[in-house]
Amino acid sequence: MSVKPAIRDLSVSECENWFAEMGEPSYRVNQLLGWLYRNPVAGFENMTNLPKGLREVLHGAFRLWSLNLSQIESADDGTVKLLWSTPLGEHLESVLIPMLRRDEGRAEPHHLTICVSTQIGCARGCTFCLTGVQEFSRNLSVAEILDQVLFTMVWLKGGFPETEALPLVLRELPLSNVVFMGMGEPLDNYHSVLRASSLLANQVGFSHRKITISTVGVVPKILKLSKEPEVFSLALSLHAANDEVRWRIMPRKRHYPLKDIVEALRVFPLPPRKRFTVEYVMLKDVNDSLSQAKDLVRLLNPLRCKVNLIPYNPFPDSPYAPSPMHRIEEFQSLLRQKGLSAFIRASRGREILAGCGQLRWKVEHG
Ligand code: SF4
Repeated sequence: MSVKPAIRDLSVSECENWFAEMGEPSYRVNQLLGWLYRNPVAGFENMTNLPKGLREVLHGAFRLWSLNLSQIESADDGTVKLLWSTPLGEHLESVLIPMLRRDEGRAEPHHLTICVSTQIGCARGCTFCLTGVQEFSRNLSVAEILDQVLFTMVWLKGGFPETEALPLVLRELPLSNVVFMGMGEPLDNYHSVLRASSLLANQVGFSHRKITISTVGVVPKILKLSKEPEVFSLALSLHAANDEVRWRIMPRKRHYPLKDIVEALRVFPLPPRKRFTVEYVMLKDVNDSLSQAKDLVRLLNPLRCKVNLIPYNPFPDSPYAPSPMHRIEEFQSLLRQKGLSAFIRASRGREILAGCGQLRWKVEHG
């Protein structure tokens, strides 16, 4: 099946060459980039400062959107799960999450975070993750990563009247944060993730600090990332405080020793007043004992970080159960007593299977 190229997969110099070949003046490139990134629109026909004939030629040569939004599920807490399909019938997911700010004891929705996928499937094989127990298929392209964010921005502004409307409360919140924490290990798709992050920061206008790359700790890629000219926020999906437990839930052949991961983070150029985020999913009787909380304190001692304790969101036939809330609270208070910032992250959208890979699995397996 032949599919037109997605226009956001073109680099700026490829756009320039295309316009030159079409005999168009060079300032048209900047006009086009404005519509692609700074003020994204639903269709080529909405690019009103380009001549109508040129818009039609662009429409004939390229796809503006690399993905179709094929399913939307909303949870009572405002979380919205988006299932995307590619022209080849593959599926991937994003999650749009209203983030709360606590003010005088009240929690008010404050901004939106979108959690995006970087691969279809994942080769890292974490056993508590539904994406990890499915087959790895391929890396997403730059356009496929960006379009999860940009399509959502246009949708929030009402740019797709044919698409089911988002709840009003979401439409009133700014989409200010992007987290690469959906399906896939972002650093296994290094170049596309970096290019997408750079475009989000420099063309779309997201703050570098509000773009977070989440990794299970791919040591050579963390070291490579630390030498890049642009610095984004980094989160570590840790999930265990010692190698023995970690390699039980995250296969040894596909994951680095913890001491190497911590050392790589120690030399990462963390901006002043920034901290790493450490994600720790709480699995009942696996990684939630107080002795493991003490190990965690020792392990993270060299790092400036905060820890998010995540109540587990089990999928059908998962070998794990969620830790009871009282145990998560005890774990948190031990971390805090020892001086670590630790938060219990609300399990958002549990009823719509908002753990990574879960909506895709539901659609593909019925
Ligand atoms: S937790 Fe992340 S790295 Fe591990 S299998 Fe799932 S998507 Fe891949």
